[in-house]
Amino acid sequence: MLTIDDVLRLTHEVTRTGHWYIDLDNNTVFWSDEVFRIHGYEPGSFKPDFKTAINFYHPNDRQRVQKIIEQTLSSLQPLDFVARVLHQDGAVVLVHSTGEIKFSGTGRPQYLFGVFRDITEEEYQQRHNQRLARSLENTHEAIIMTDPDGKTTWVNAAFTRITGFSRDELMGNKPGELLQGHDSDPDTIEYMGVMMSRLEPFTAEILNYDHSGQTFWMRISCQPDFDENGELLGFASIQNDISSEKQLLLNLETEIDSRKVLEEQLRYIATHDELSGMPNRRHFMQNAEAERVRSRRHDRQLCVLLADLDHFKRINDEYGHAAGDAVIQAFARLCNETLRIHDLSARVGGEEFAFLLPETGLEGGRVLAERLRQGLETMPVTVGDQSIPVTVSIGVMETVPEDNDVSGMLAKADKALYEAKHKGRNRVVCAST
Ligand code: GH3
Ligand code: MG
Ligand code: MG
Repeated sequence: MLTIDDVLRLTHEVTRTGHWYIDLDNNTVFWSDEVFRIHGYEPGSFKPDFKTAINFYHPNDRQRVQKIIEQTLSSLQPLDFVARVLHQDGAVVLVHSTGEIKFSGTGRPQYLFGVFRDITEEEYQQRHNQRLARSLENTHEAIIMTDPDGKTTWVNAAFTRITGFSRDELMGNKPGELLQGHDSDPDTIEYMGVMMSRLEPFTAEILNYDHSGQTFWMRISCQPDFDENGELLGFASIQNDISSEKQLLLNLETEIDSRKVLEEQLRYIATHDELSGMPNRRHFMQNAEAERVRSRRHDRQLCVLLADLDHFKRINDEYGHAAGDAVIQAFARLCNETLRIHDLSARVGGEEFAFLLPETGLEGGRVLAERLRQGLETMPVTVGDQSIPVTVSIGVMETVPEDNDVSGMLAKADKALYEAKHKGRNRVVCAST
């Protein structure tokens, strides 16, 4: 069974509370055990007096405390102060003291009795919480807290600044109902709703509308908040205005797209001839070499044609250079229509054209060359009101395993072409294999 004294002592220990008094009859000072401990001393290790007691206070607090006590003694009014006590090792303890005058049976002031409590930890916690609250209030991120139903219970300054809604307008309302609108993505809204109902944290990006109806992008990072019993207190969410980030991304995507188009155009320019729209010599040589290697590997036939328009100088002379250009374009069109999809073609010189026909032997090549020759012969090339007769001579060659490069193959076709010219033009000649 605890005595009254035991209970008092335990209460003081548990609450870090002590008591002190000044006996006003003989000006002696009494400290309880806990008061000694709060000052950093073993209970009863010395006999305190008014002067030593005052000297324990932090130099900056000392005068103030002394004044408070003197005023209490003269006014007989209660005292209540918070001050710093300095330990021998320099540690600072924050104490809260309350006290009042106790009178004798005859009404004479007999004691100044005080209660003394170490509030260092409490004060630290409180200041820490204040700091936290200040940081949350002043941070650039918008912060919002809701109750378990998702209704707003607190917002910081950034939230009202970004959304344009006042605290009063937001308070008690679901933020989504105020901020979402016509173009807010319904899937994102549903996702956020599902995650909240599952009490799971999530991040999402959503188009919001501010108070004036202006749209902006928010990145939301939301978290359910539980008490120590696991019961839902509500949701806390940190939000960032990512409109400029989104705009930057959009600009970048547009830039990438237009660069791709530009690259494609550049690639086309680098590989094609402007007048005829046909691949150029360099492009032809690269692709033809790849095709030569492929044909060799699979032991397939491969045929090369070289075509040269007949008496082209005359055409230029008679009809003009522009008419000559139109003839080149007309022949290019004819080639396009006549060749198969896997055949390669190129304008390799002024009015010279090369073709490579995969999986085609000499006879197949001759047939195609003949089709081109006849096609041009019977096709009227009209420029203005003039119809220009044009013919073409074509040399055809089929590769043999000894053909080790495209230039050599073209040289063979050129030899056949020369023969065609020599024999009177407007004809097809196959190189002898
Ligand atoms: P041949 O039957 O022997 O081939 O006679 P040719 O007159 O066609 O002789 P050659 O092939 O040596 O001459 C080709 C001419 O084509 C020379 C040049 O003035 C002309 N030419 C070359 N490129 C172009 C061009 O882009 N446009 C026009 N209009 N003419 C061109
Ligand atoms: Mg020529
Ligand atoms: Mg010619």
